[in-house]
Amino acid sequence: MKTKFIKGIGVTPGIVIGKAYLLDRGKIEAPAKVLPESQVPQEVDRFRDAVEESKKQLRKAKEKLLQEDAASLAYILDTHLLLLEDKNLIEKTVETIKHSRINSEWALKINLERVRKVFDSIDDEYLKSRKTDVDYVGDRILRTLMGKDPESISKIKEEVIIVAHDLSPGDTAQMAKDKVTAFVTDMGGRTSHTAIMARSLEIPAVVGSETATHSVNTGDTLIVDGITGVVVVNPSLEIMQEYQERHRVRQKMERELFQYRDLPAETLDGYRVKVLANIELVDEVPAVLQHGAEGIGLYRTEYLYLNRKDLPPEEEHFTAYKKVVEGIYPHPAIIRTLDIGGDKFMSHLDLAEEMNPAMGLRAIRFSLREVDIFKVQLRAIMRASAYGKVKILFPMISGATEIREVKKILHEVRLSLSAEGVPFDPQMEIGIMIEVPSAVTIADILAQEVDFFSIGTNDLIQYALAIDRVNESVTHLYEPLHPAILRLVRDVVKASHDAGIRVAMCGEMAGEALYVPILVGLELDELSMNVLSIFRVKKILRAYTFQECKNLVEASLHLSTPGEIEELVRASLRKKFPEEFSENFNSRSVIHA
Ligand code: PEP
Ligand code: MG
Repeated sequence: MKTKFIKGIGVTPGIVIGKAYLLDRGKIEAPAKVLPESQVPQEVDRFRDAVEESKKQLRKAKEKLLQEDAASLAYILDTHLLLLEDKNLIEKTVETIKHSRINSEWALKINLERVRKVFDSIDDEYLKSRKTDVDYVGDRILRTLMGKDPESISKIKEEVIIVAHDLSPGDTAQMAKDKVTAFVTDMGGRTSHTAIMARSLEIPAVVGSETATHSVNTGDTLIVDGITGVVVVNPSLEIMQEYQERHRVRQKMERELFQYRDLPAETLDGYRVKVLANIELVDEVPAVLQHGAEGIGLYRTEYLYLNRKDLPPEEEHFTAYKKVVEGIYPHPAIIRTLDIGGDKFMSHLDLAEEMNPAMGLRAIRFSLREVDIFKVQLRAIMRASAYGKVKILFPMISGATEIREVKKILHEVRLSLSAEGVPFDPQMEIGIMIEVPSAVTIADILAQEVDFFSIGTNDLIQYALAIDRVNESVTHLYEPLHPAILRLVRDVVKASHDAGIRVAMCGEMAGEALYVPILVGLELDELSMNVLSIFRVKKILRAYTFQECKNLVEASLHLSTPGEIEELVRASLRKKFPEEFSENFNSRSVIHA
């Protein structure tokens, strides 16, 4: 059999070798018929019945997800339920049946195509990826109309790698972890639901492969590399052996890394750094605990607002926050208020299209304009503070006026909760993200206003180096080891320590192995990262003395370019970890390997 290679986007690290199971989620052929006038009312009823039946099926799947404690996945089904009520899709299809006197399947197909085109024209990767929701809903109605049940994953009896056009949350609800060892989909991007699901279920996966369902048959042997996004179909013996070796090395590395779980994040000479985790979903708390994080350093709450048409009510916020806070107790949970705009969007708030969204009405700017929406979230965070150790974090602060305004609003919320007799922690710490260069320059002033800082390098680098973080053409210039970035971090740390407050870093830089000695030498008190990076960061940190790290920073600050600094750091790491930081090893692959 000929070996084929497919390239997609790896979304959960891990290498899996196994048998493919092609899930029948391909397009079904819809019959096209012109109807006699007399049959039109009946046909409209048939269509409406199919829509109602589809809603019933989805509600049932949602119930199942809620029972299985996968609330964030269940909310994805809400998007689908809303689409089943969308006038632009449903009522327009009814109109097409009536006016063109054609059957439901045909009318639906025409309208799905129209809605899809609208999504296609949107210049936003996240919104574009929502097209898969339209496809999913369309497919669900079509199958109901034609009496064809989608093939159920629950019927699969042996261990397989699922290959599908796309997977719905309903599908994943049935993905018993022991049976589905990996999955590959044609559709999806990094922020697609499928990718999010793969990560939260920790199933190695490749999405956005475009053609996997055309190149794979049930029973084919597959290698799925969730790190590089490569899928090998019917590998030759040689390739198989190569991947088996890679898999073995990875497993060995994972086993070896596991010992760091309960070891403190401290240098050889006992200098302690706190290692925390970044999360986006409530369901991630167990993974945070399993990886031995000392708390949640960044809970991005945007997810609560995404994929829905209405705003989340206070109770929904509260339920999510309480669960996180109780789950992580006695460790702290740092809850960040809404950071919408920029590369994150919210569909139901008709935000004006901005020329420069990263510099537009995002994060705290949005919250200070929409104070009522902001207060709902603040109330919920305050209420959750009665159930554990909560700290609140405000994104994108650029000056003291903003934080003062925020504190004024927070005070009003406290007063009203007190008046209502609702308990909260009166000493809850308040922190700000340092991610706008102006905040670095006046860090000494801002430090007087708050209890802690958290440096958001994803944005700080973007704004300081003028590199759009979502533009592929300039990613090569996105350099955390740029001397300017090191100086900015150094200045923030100095300002916070002079003022006697703690300073964390929660951007991606904090979880990258290569930067660990520098970050320790820069004297950051806390590093918050993706759970999958925790063991490795601890491993590196524990191989250095604090003085060695400080010397590296000192030497780096005398160099002129990111390349020179990287070479210096790499040489130091190579001495301690010759295998992992060999000459031809790229830093990113090391981190995720
Ligand atoms: C950052 O900017 O570094 C950060 C942690 O926030 P986000 O990635 O959510 O913008
Ligand atoms: Mg940010």
